Order: sequence, then structure tokens, then C-alpha cells
Amino acid sequence: MRITRLPGDDRANGWSAILPPRSPNPPLAGEVRADWVVVGAGYAGLGAARRLAELHPAARIALIEAGEAGENASGRNSGFAIDLPHNVGSSLDELDGSHRFMRRARFAIGELDRVIEAEGIACDWSADGKYHTAVSERGRREVLEPFARELEALGEPYEWIEGGALRAALGSPHFTAAIRTPGGRLMNPAALCRGLADSLPKNVTLYENSPVTAFENSNGVTLTTPDGSLRAPKMILAANGFAERFGAFRGRFLHLVAHASLTRPLTEAERARYGVTRPWGLTPANAFAGITMRHTNDHRILIRQGLSYCPSQRFPEAGRRAVARRHKRLFDARFPGLDAVEMAHTWSGFVCLSRNAAPGFGRVAPNIWAATCQNAVGVTKGTFGGILAADMASGEDNPLIADMESLGTPSPLPPRPFLDMGVRARFARELWRNRHEA
Ligand SMILES: Cc1cc2nc3c(=O)[nH]c(=O)nc-3n(C[C@H](O)[C@H](O)[C@H](O)COP(=O)(O)OP(=O)(O)OC[C@H]3O[C@@H](n4cnc5c(N)ncnc54)[C@H](O)[C@@H]3O)c2cc1C
Repeated sequence: MRITRLPGDDRANGWSAILPPRSPNPPLAGEVRADWVVVGAGYAGLGAARRLAELHPAARIALIEAGEAGENASGRNSGFAIDLPHNVGSSLDELDGSHRFMRRARFAIGELDRVIEAEGIACDWSADGKYHTAVSERGRREVLEPFARELEALGEPYEWIEGGALRAALGSPHFTAAIRTPGGRLMNPAALCRGLADSLPKNVTLYENSPVTAFENSNGVTLTTPDGSLRAPKMILAANGFAERFGAFRGRFLHLVAHASLTRPLTEAERARYGVTRPWGLTPANAFAGITMRHTNDHRILIRQGLSYCPSQRFPEAGRRAVARRHKRLFDARFPGLDAVEMAHTWSGFVCLSRNAAPGFGRVAPNIWAATCQNAVGVTKGTFGGILAADMASGEDNPLIADMESLGTPSPLPPRPFLDMGVRARFARELWRNRHEA
């Protein structure tokens, strides 16, 4: 099977641009054999490769990545490791689903805590909590108040903040109210991915800049790259939305593009005017219309705004420049005293969703397991998906595997162009209905 669509890289990721340069590992060259191969070095592939190495210390494990660690969706996201569901729901079934998600997410955060500490990964990993904010009275009434009741039903701690206290915490008059939850982590995601990739156990070989251009599965898998080929009896597919190209979950993934910008660091004078010293992260009451923001440890502001349907998995350069201008306008509206602050970096990344929010997880052929389609929460879902795929492939008895399987598999999507029309109409409706939260 030829793999004709490969991941691109707009070379614009702000999170990696602010880090020191890194030398990638050499590409795959010649004919290589391994006991296991993992495709894709995002959170899912990095988690799977490390777990396989721990379970099989004598095995040769290959991790093949089309680009460079930290330059994929995993390295260009907003940097929230999320431990609570965005929408909890109040029925017993929904509360049970939330408890199970929290168990898996906290397992992933625990694993990341452990590796970051053991390997000394410098990625601004911090437990600063998260604000869930509403802009309008309607957002407060329709999203925050029910969310507060659901957190109470789950027995989860939270703080309700509004007025002057919220303005002082975020340094912006834009929000009416917020719920602050103490769990989760914030980080520079590119630094985390690089750190995870550069500290893999000795029996893992990471090949970067090695796009798989052909794939065969007969008596084991054979993967072809521009300079070599790799044979292995067993494979874990962690290629996110590109897994379809390997024949898995075809016609079941929705591809979206999301955009983010980072400002330059605020100057001393701007910081004095801004008045906030603590880093923070906020997610909006409505993910389509609203804006995710962060104040980073080095005093930059992140804006993550704009989510649209993008079946081509490519976003043009002219579009990126338009996004940068829009993010600057949004920044100015939120931080009136900081209008001299420019967006230093603007980039795009791809998100993979399924119609029923199920992950592309589990055994997809007798010798192939998948950890794909993280439904936009990939720091935790990708990490536990990768680890659990490795456990499943190794016959390990991990109770979280049954938990994952209970989520089902991605349901089929309607054929194009009906799909395109349906998704675009749904997105336009969501944006219109929630315009008060923009
Ligand atoms: C702007 C933005 C903000 C986001 N914010 C957050 C957030 O704050 N928190 C959160 O949890 N999630 C967030 N997400 C979503 C999150 O980034 C993804 O869900 C997560 O990174 C997916 O991880 P993954 O390992 O499954 O896939 P990826 O990180 O996409 O990794 C898959 C890898 O497979 C490789 N690959 C694909 N095809 C091939 C091939 N043929 N050969 C070799 N390699 C191949 C790709 O190069 C890629 O590196 C955000 C996403 C974006 C774009």
C-alpha cells in the first residue's frame, strides 16, 4: 500500500522556536529489522514506545517519525494536560463516564510526572490549575453554573471567581466569571515532546525525518521510507489522523485545523502595567467560539483561536498571516494596555475527531494495534492511549484497557461531499449560537 498523503510542517511552531536548537535523530537508512515498530512520535507514539521498552527490555523497538519530535500536533498545542472532561453531564451514566475519563487522564498525568522528574525534562511543567471562563452572562448561566453543579456531583474541588478577583488573576477585563480547577498541568508542549523523545530507553531507536511512504502487512509489517525499509513482526500505529492512510479507521476521522499565536515576552514596563506575575491557563466556555489563552512562565501570552474543518490536512501560508492579524485584534481587545505587544509566532496544527468522540484504539489487525484520534485532548488521551496500546499488544492485564474499549470505536462518517456540507453547516451554527462567548 502506497502512502500518498504525508504530514506537512509549516516550520512556524512558536513553542519550538523559543527553545534552543535541537539536532534530530538520523533518518532510517538501509534495511533494518526490529521486534516492534511504532509509527508516529506524538504523545501516543512516545508513550507506546517507552512502555514497550519497559515491558520488553531485551527487544529492539523502532519509533518512526515523518518529521521531528515536537513539531507535530503534540508539540504545537496549547499545552494543557487536562484531567477533567470539558462537558461533564449530570446523568448517572455521564458522571460514571467522567469518573472513568478522570481515572485515565490522571494515570497519564502521573506517568508524565514520573518521567519528567526522572529524566529532568525542562518543559515548564507546572500544576497551576486551569480557569474555565465565560465572557457573557449567558455563558455563565448556560455553561459555568451547570459545570459547577457537575463538579460538585463528581466531588471535585473548584473555586468560583468573578469581578475584581478574576480581573486581578488574569489581567483582563474581558471575562464575567470563571471556575478554577486545581488539577491538570501546563507546559511548553514542544519542550515536553523533545524531552520525551530524547530520553527514550536505550532499546528504542527513534528515526526522525523518516516518512513512511509504503506499508505492507504480510508475515509482519514492512515500512518503506525514502532511504530505507524496516521489518517488524508487530506494530503500534500512533499516526493520529494519518492512520487512515495505513488502512485503519478509513472514513471515520474528521480532520480539523486549529491555530495558535505566542506574543514576544512582555517587557519589564509592560509587565508592571499588566500586573500579573503568576502563569495561568484558561479554556473558554465554548470551544468553537471562544479563545484558549495562557500566560507563560516567560511572560508571553498564548492565543489559541479558530477551529475549522480541513479534510486536506494542509493550511496555506496566506491563511496563517490572516490568522496572525486576527489573533492580534483579539489580544488587543482582551489586554487594552498592551497594544504594542506583537504576535511573535503564529502556527497551525491538525486535530483528529470522531463523530461519536470514540478513540481509534485497539487491535486493528492480528499484529497491529492503534492509539489514534484523541478528539483534541491528546496530551492526556494520547499518552494513556499509547501506553494502553502497548500493554494490550503485550498481553498485560491493565484494567484501564477495558475502560478504553468501553468507549467503542469511531463511527462511520457520511461520504463526501455530504460530509463537508454537514460539518461546515454544523460549525457555522455552533459559532453563531455561541457568538456571545467570542
Ligand atoms: C493548536 C492546537 C491546540 C491544542 N491544544 C491542546 C491542549 O491544550 N491539550 C490537549 O490535550 N490537546 C490539545 N490539542 C490536541 C493535541 O495536540 C492532539 O490531540 C495530540 O497532539 C495528538 O497526539 P498524537 O500522538 O495522537 O498525534 P500527533 O501529535 O499528530 O502525532 C502523530 C505523528 O504521526 C506522524 N506520522 C503521520 N503519518 C506518518 C507517516 N506516514 N510516516 C511517519 N510518521 C507519520 C506525524 O508526523 C506525527 O508526528 C491541540 C491541538 C492543536 C493543533
